[in-house]
Amino acid sequence: QNEKDSQFIVSNWAKDHYHKLLLENEEGQSIGLSYLRQRGLNQHTIQTFELGYSLDAWDDLLKAAQKEGFQAKYLEKTGLTIIREDEQGKDSGRRYDRFRGRVMFPIHNVSGRVIGFGARTLKANDKTAKYLNSPESEIYHKSDVLYGLFQARQAIRSEEVCYLVEGYLDVLSLYQGGIKNVVASSGTSLTESQIRLIGRYSENVTVLYDGDAAGIRASLRGIDMLLEGGLNVRVVLFPDGDDPDSYIRKVGDQRFKEHLDSASQDFISFKTSVVAKEAAQDPVKKAEAIRDVLQSIAKVPDPIKRQVFLQQTSGAFGIDEQVLITEYNKLVKNAT
Ligand code: ATP
Ligand code: MN
Ligand code: MN
Ligand code: MN
Repeated sequence: QNEKDSQFIVSNWAKDHYHKLLLENEEGQSIGLSYLRQRGLNQHTIQTFELGYSLDAWDDLLKAAQKEGFQAKYLEKTGLTIIREDEQGKDSGRRYDRFRGRVMFPIHNVSGRVIGFGARTLKANDKTAKYLNSPESEIYHKSDVLYGLFQARQAIRSEEVCYLVEGYLDVLSLYQGGIKNVVASSGTSLTESQIRLIGRYSENVTVLYDGDAAGIRASLRGIDMLLEGGLNVRVVLFPDGDDPDSYIRKVGDQRFKEHLDSASQDFISFKTSVVAKEAAQDPVKKAEAIRDVLQSIAKVPDPIKRQVFLQQTSGAFGIDEQVLITEYNKLVKNAT
């Protein structure tokens, strides 16, 4: 049995431990489970995603692991426990649990094995981060993982589109609402390897980021990367202050699905509307905005798609297509 196997085993055991605490322990039920219920999640979703709760104590997991006979080094390597250092910064020999008093979101790889955790605090004004994640380990590389992909993969294939959201709760709420082809990049900005991963299941991605300035910025960044990865990109915006989770809770499953259809834009219209809003009537800014869109088009590997996008951009900005193509060629030449 090798090193990695031991880390898989301890992660899977911890997942079961947290899950049992959520469902059967008094603190787990009164704090963790009631929180998830209040966020609208039902028993079935909790089971499907194997959600859990970590007790608000320093060593609950540590003790339970010792009882099971797990070696301390595997808890450390998977980041489930943290080494307490003495004043000189040396290992004091003491350990404590990383996740305490949090709702636990196990992160699965595509074959369904637990490789790490996301964990949300339940305290209203926690001084620590709202979400904590497992640190990088031999089995958990956060830039290679999409939260929810294990549960979503068949639906992504059959629906022929992957919905990309920002957070854990967005995945869970949409899945529960019948939109099962949904994954999250969970805190990291989108990476190339996450994009390749999506591409194994579908070449169509619809970005559903939060309806705030940060979400729009992240969408713009994500779009260029997705285009570079050869994927077809659409975007759905939500009202400012809403994310997919809060919006589906507000309007219900049916109206949410209608919104996905009616508000979905291809990336050119999305970018055009974002940059055009900033550019307003200023011709200099408008020219910059057009170049901005051309930069995105330059990322598309397929020359036929590029051609179509150029036509579309010419229409969207009311710029002669030949002028646009000349500008595009200049821009590509300067970039290389
Ligand atoms: P909630 O609805 O529970 O408040 P959210 O998913 O809407 O959570 P956002 O603030 O929109 O939270 O963040 C989106 C995602 O980014 C989170 O689901 C999480 O994966 C990640 N994230 C947010 N805050 C942090 C943080 N402080 N540290 C690490 N990751 C974070
Ligand atoms: Mn946000
Ligand atoms: Mn959010
Ligand atoms: Mn949210």
